[in-house]
Amino acid sequence: MTNCNGKTALVTGASRGIGRAAALALSEAGAQVLVHYSQGKAEAEAAVRQIRTAGGRAEAVGADLSTADGPGRLAERVHEIVGERLDILVANAGVAKAVSIEETTVEDFDRLFAVNVRAPFFLVQHLLPILQEGSSIVLVSSLAARASVGTLSAYAATKGAIDTLVKHFASALGPRGIRINAVAPGVVRTDMSSFTKTDAGRDFALGIQSLKRLAEPDDIGDVIAFLASDRARWVTGGTIQVDGGSKL
Ligand code: NAP
Repeated sequence: MTNCNGKTALVTGASRGIGRAAALALSEAGAQVLVHYSQGKAEAEAAVRQIRTAGGRAEAVGADLSTADGPGRLAERVHEIVGERLDILVANAGVAKAVSIEETTVEDFDRLFAVNVRAPFFLVQHLLPILQEGSSIVLVSSLAARASVGTLSAYAATKGAIDTLVKHFASALGPRGIRINAVAPGVVRTDMSSFTKTDAGRDFALGIQSLKRLAEPDDIGDVIAFLASDRARWVTGGTIQVDGGSKL
């Protein structure tokens, strides 16, 4: 695929998991990719090396997106690297915590909303000046936003907020030629869903899915790369379920 040739992309949380897979898929499609990380500098640099070895262009960019000024700092860094033209933003970085309603703390709740909702919102705000006509934003929602799966109510609420933001952003930014969508993965084999390493966890995941295998990060990354590309030029304002037919 070369349908992102000449485009610039920022993928947050690209040091591992779904973000890393999206960064690799966008690079394969021809984009220059900024591989964002927070704690995983070495992993992000490894992804950059992998992209460069395959002939692509990539840079690692670090920022903690749990802080109020994190999105602004990241946007400044992106501006320094790509100049006035960013074509693709994948706001993927996220945190989850499986915890009952009774045991959820205010700190848990605030951290989930800071990383999963506040950061994407203000990253979009700060990057708008360099998001050109024809650019595409992809946010990452979750199966948890539409179905009760595990003790995830606060996390699920952050993803419900993403589904809402997508509609409002798409309406507001459409006249500028900017598309915005979300993908909603089900259970994906990453550090976040480490419960899939146990037999019970694997059985749970397969039990809620129509397709009977565990999802790999590139099952999601490929759909993100499609939504980011011009092939999805008439798709905006939607949350696309990418979950092997979970909880149908
Ligand atoms: P993961 O493997 O745990 O990776 C999380 C990524 O987010 C890492 O790159 C991490 O960066 C970054 N991150 C975490 N806290 C951050 C912070 N404070 N500031 C900046 N970056 C931060 O998770 P994943 O499974 O790939 O999840 C990616 C997205 O998919 C998330 O939005 C998640 O909610 C969503 N999702 C996942 C699943 C699933 O089953 N895995 C299902 C539905 C939705 P560092 O490692 O560099 O710190």
